[in-house]
Amino acid sequence: MEKVVPENLAQSRRARRGKLPGIQPELRSTCMVLAVLSLRGCMRSQLLECASMRLRVTVLPAMMLMLASAAASADTIHLKNGRTILADHVHENGNRYEYEIGDDNYAIPKSSVDRVEAGGMPSIMSSGPGKGAGNLPAFTPVDNLANEGDLPNTIVKGGKVDSDALAKLEGKGNAELSATAGFIAGKFEFEHGNIDQARRYFDGALRFQPENSTVLIYYAALLVRTGKASQALSYAQRAVSAAPQSPDAYAVLGYAQQASDRTKDAVVSWKRSFELRPDPAVKQYLDKAQREQNVETDFAQRESSHFVLHYEGKQTSEAFRGQILAGLESDYDDLARDLGTPPRDSILVTLYTEQAFFDVTRAPSWSGALNDGKLRIPISGLNSMTSELARVLKHELAHSFINQLSAGRCPPWLHEGIAQLLEPKSVSSDGRQLARLFKSQRNIPLNVLEGSFMRFSGGEAYVAYAESLAAVSYINDSYGMSDIQRILQRLSDGSSTEAALRATIHSDYGQLESELGKYLGDKYGE
Ligand SMILES: [Zn+2]
Repeated sequence: MEKVVPENLAQSRRARRGKLPGIQPELRSTCMVLAVLSLRGCMRSQLLECASMRLRVTVLPAMMLMLASAAASADTIHLKNGRTILADHVHENGNRYEYEIGDDNYAIPKSSVDRVEAGGMPSIMSSGPGKGAGNLPAFTPVDNLANEGDLPNTIVKGGKVDSDALAKLEGKGNAELSATAGFIAGKFEFEHGNIDQARRYFDGALRFQPENSTVLIYYAALLVRTGKASQALSYAQRAVSAAPQSPDAYAVLGYAQQASDRTKDAVVSWKRSFELRPDPAVKQYLDKAQREQNVETDFAQRESSHFVLHYEGKQTSEAFRGQILAGLESDYDDLARDLGTPPRDSILVTLYTEQAFFDVTRAPSWSGALNDGKLRIPISGLNSMTSELARVLKHELAHSFINQLSAGRCPPWLHEGIAQLLEPKSVSSDGRQLARLFKSQRNIPLNVLEGSFMRFSGGEAYVAYAESLAAVSYINDSYGMSDIQRILQRLSDGSSTEAALRATIHSDYGQLESELGKYLGDKYGE
């Protein structure tokens, strides 16, 4: 059963690229940096993009629509082990089926498949911006270490770094070779979620070549991605000094600056990167940072122990801002207790008018607030804390904790499920509809909810959020919060979501869905 985990084509592409011998001082593709920042592929958001829903009452119509819908534009792959995969599109290629879910491409051996059925579920995954990793530019390193043979295969053997081989290479006394070897080992460990080990190898590589811009760029990207933006700044600045013509060095400097609340500097860095090499991903970040800058020119700033609050002076009273910061600090303590390790850097929070919120974020109209590394909260019409705003703040802050605990690898359904559970929000108001949805097998499969929710229509998003909360509530009721923490820990160690679920609650997606259906039926069924 466990053999049928689909192979992610994007990952195998990265793995193939990793087999190229040697490295060059210059990375050719910002996508490499982006892929490090977001292992799910190019063009994705830098860290996370998690919204909470506004209008929690638009409900029933969406759910009814799902129940009634017989629309059939997606394909269903029935596996021999009884599981099903719902894909946007399936096609045959040799001895395997290749299929798309959202922006991701997968493949599965035909020997694991019983049959493929056209149709079955409404296709909710119309393609979002950017088609994922499918169009990664080729990485063509200068083969200046060709006489050393296939370096990655010398260093990584049987799925792990061979420390003897590494020591042997260092023994040759060639600084560039030693730095390259350390870089390859560090990159391998990073891609497998072993962050501390990766840092040790990158540190080692920099001892041999302190100004190797490739190592510095990767190191900075690793630090940004693991929530240590302030540390990343100095590595990114060194990368720019070492390689002043490198668009990647400027791109990663921009990420570090943006995440360290230096939007103005980030705009300058991304502009420079774009001048050196026009890259649509950098353009996307640049445009958003510029929109933020335009809106926030007159914004003031206020700090508390763990937060930096940005706001427009005339929009909120001093007392209201104090309430918001006090609420966030108390949420911070709750979340540190419930989930563990808090984020390391100060957490950035910006208060907007409704209009400014959508101008800056371009978020879908159903979103009520957003966490894209910063908590962006629209507060039009409010002049003191309300219970709804308190829930929104805690929800968005929870995303920062989840991101930290999972090293940015938590899938959206789990992210949104945990954030809602901790608001706290209960399944009960949607329980009966959800029970019916699962009973008639018209629920959105959890593996589909591994793709971003940001492309959903309001109705689809409603169902996606409700299912996410139900799934996490089921796990919490049956196994407890400690198992939710363990799942996040497994994800941060590099496990796939299904492997993390199997190792903790002993269920793959198929089993979890049937257990969830039963849980909902027992609790809310007619
Ligand atoms: Zn959310």
